[in-house]
Amino acid sequence: MRVLITGGAGFIGSHLTERLLNEGHSVIIIDNFHTGSRNNIRHLLHHDDLEIFRQDVTDPFRVEVDCIYNLACPASPIHYQRSPVKTVLTSVLGVIHCLDLAKLTKARVLQASTSEIYGDPQVHPQREEYWGNVNTIGPRSCYDEGKRVAETLMFDYHRENGVDIRVARIFNTYGPRMSPDDGRVVSNFILQALRGEPITIFGDGRQTRSFCYVDDLVEGLIRLMNKEGITGPMNFGNPDERTIKEIAELVIRLTGSASEIVYKPLPKDDPVRRKPDISLAKKNLGWQPKVKLEEGLPRVIEYFRPLAERHTAPRKMPN
Ligand code: NAD
Ligand code: UDP
Repeated sequence: MRVLITGGAGFIGSHLTERLLNEGHSVIIIDNFHTGSRNNIRHLLHHDDLEIFRQDVTDPFRVEVDCIYNLACPASPIHYQRSPVKTVLTSVLGVIHCLDLAKLTKARVLQASTSEIYGDPQVHPQREEYWGNVNTIGPRSCYDEGKRVAETLMFDYHRENGVDIRVARIFNTYGPRMSPDDGRVVSNFILQALRGEPITIFGDGRQTRSFCYVDDLVEGLIRLMNKEGITGPMNFGNPDERTIKEIAELVIRLTGSASEIVYKPLPKDDPVRRKPDISLAKKNLGWQPKVKLEEGLPRVIEYFRPLAERHTAPRKMPN
């Protein structure tokens, strides 16, 4: 198969690219390297079946492919809030350009949607039928609403033009090749612990998230793409819900760090609880995550260990 991955030089995109190349597919990456990096895919550059185009998905593109994974979009609050208008444009124009291409070439499109669709959820755990609780005008809205419109466009192109679509709602994912400077909780805590710096918990640390190891997520995305007769939306994540305080304590234990925990203000609209209901993916794809947090975090710690000395202090959320 010829596969287009927008955002293929990013964290998740690079793992998906690697997996598809290893399975013998041809991969074309479109990426503007805004939050992605050549380092994420450097080890894959020898593949004859890999092509990389430095291009922005807000501009139209034409390539001959069988399927499209649309991953291009900054995913960390620090990055998507830095240029909020660009974030909306990336989600909306990016998916329109993928869908226009799919309409023309009959390619299948998978949209990387997000648990942020559910906003600060009032229903727990989150099932696909839940419509969410999203602030339209807050600092996270550029990401949340951009992704919501992208889902709308996927279904409108499907109904109006018969485009073959798959919508994956991805919950917090972690693994090697996360960007060390994107301010996400896993990368921040690990870097702080490795440097012996204070671990910064935002709020009281009782807010929860559920973390999925990247290999498990990639397996889910591929199964959804390859499944016939299904559109989603479908949740992908690990239902193992933890408080942020538990994550801090686990990282301290796994790194053997002497770091203390300090408490900082909670960013605006930070969701209180998040946990995917994955019954749909289990039933339809036979998918569920395999890698436990206690297994996955040490792999990320080893990835970050050499980087810990080179990079400056982890980034803080903008006020
Ligand atoms: P990432 O920031 O590492 O990767 C995004 C990639 O898209 C980067 O390579 C970046 O350079 C590229 N990109 C951004 N804007 C672009 C543009 N306008 N044109 C072309 N390329 C552009 O993020 P990630 O964690 O790998 O996330 C990948 C996708 O999965 C995103 O769509 C994100 O919203 C979604 N997602 C991720 C998570 C997570 O926990 N990581 C959770 C939910 C959803
Ligand atoms: N967080 C934290 N300290 C940090 C970075 C993040 O306590 O140094 C918190 C953040 O406020 C949120 C949770 O960890 O409650 C997850 O944050 P992240 O940005 O990783 O993901 P998201 O909020 O998008 O789920």
